[in-house]
Amino acid sequence: MNTAKSQELFNQAQKSIPGGVNSPVRAFKAVGGNPLFIKSAKGAYMYDQDDNRYIDMINSWGPMILGHAFPAIGEAVAEAVKSSLSFGAPTAKEVTIAELIVDMMPSVEKVRMVNSGTEACMSAIRLARGYTNREKIIKFEGCYHGHGDSFLIAAGSGAITMGEPNSPGVTKGVALDTLTAPFNDLEAVKTLTDANQGNVAAIIIEPVAGNMGAVLPNQGFLEGLRQLCDKEGIVLIFDEVMTGFRLARGGAQELFNIKPDLTTLGKIIGGGMPVGAYGGKKELMDFVSPVGPVYQAGTLSGNPVAMAAGLTMLQYLNENPLVYKEVEDTAIKMVAGMQQNVESLGLPYTINHIGSMFSIFFTDQKVTDFETAKSCDTALFGKYFQAMLQKGVYLAPSQFETLFVSNVLSDEDIAHFIKANGEALKEITS
Ligand code: PMP
Repeated sequence: MNTAKSQELFNQAQKSIPGGVNSPVRAFKAVGGNPLFIKSAKGAYMYDQDDNRYIDMINSWGPMILGHAFPAIGEAVAEAVKSSLSFGAPTAKEVTIAELIVDMMPSVEKVRMVNSGTEACMSAIRLARGYTNREKIIKFEGCYHGHGDSFLIAAGSGAITMGEPNSPGVTKGVALDTLTAPFNDLEAVKTLTDANQGNVAAIIIEPVAGNMGAVLPNQGFLEGLRQLCDKEGIVLIFDEVMTGFRLARGGAQELFNIKPDLTTLGKIIGGGMPVGAYGGKKELMDFVSPVGPVYQAGTLSGNPVAMAAGLTMLQYLNENPLVYKEVEDTAIKMVAGMQQNVESLGLPYTINHIGSMFSIFFTDQKVTDFETAKSCDTALFGKYFQAMLQKGVYLAPSQFETLFVSNVLSDEDIAHFIKANGEALKEITS
């Protein structure tokens, strides 16, 4: 495969951009080789600068559930652009999208738009602290909630990939206020809340973790957190930046039938534009400025072009719930094919799957938390990633990420993926 133009661009990029990329995992550091520079994408496929075609299994890390360049979203953006790119004043579209989010997400009664998932999570934590007048938060090892200081403690996603789950630059004071527990370990959370009685403002969790690979909550775990938070007056925050509008119309909270107090959103909510949001109970959200004392703001928040994209995406999902069945059916077929490949090659690997998210873990352990995720052979994953790329399949470039299925993968694409998976596994293990 000729990737000369990507190589050339990467060499050039490193001179003016740290590591040549604007977000660390994109550098392919965990999988070896150099990143591909993408020229365009349409439907299920991405094309690099050398015009190589890849089946895209990341979909911009989640947002492109309808595939790339979905016509209605592009049209809505083109239309919005004609009326100026930003006003910094309220617009009708913000009201419509807020009403739609409130309608779609079971626990959300009011919502504030921001510009990224990171911002959403940072703001939600500040709100929880302001509301409860408490300082500590509990997060789970291997979960990622963006790059806010409070979250870069035992953080997942790129932070694990780069081997920096605790980032330098986060002050000791901030780190002390972030308590961590293993995912799926309710007893550990109880030990923390007992030891910090009256000091824990919030428990923040990815209800299905995607940032250490796809890791599902054990039965009763999320319910247990809900009960604990009710008992202790702790704000329960579901980070649904990945799972919101992806695992179901109403996200993981609908799927598991648990209402968090606050929810953070991103990715799909912007249809590919830089958008995040946080929302929840009225009484909590009314603690946010200008009605409440907790300050949070944004020059480009609710940006009209971003809202046009997000609104079109959410309206489509709201009106076409079949999308969720389509993406799940596709994922089921892909996972079944992978499972068959793994078994016929006598390999012990673990595949975790829910809805349109799945991961293959190069370990013989069941992966239920960060510890078990870390037992993976990451070097082998790197070889697998490269082999898949050669076969025209673009995976997330790290063991500690989930794949995201779009609804535009054809039967041929599914067969291509399964065949590539089988061949790649054979190549890297023989
Ligand atoms: N929370 C979760 C669960 C995420 O997966 C991510 C990003 N992958 C974030 C927060 C941060 O979002 P952003 O990258 O938009 O800041």
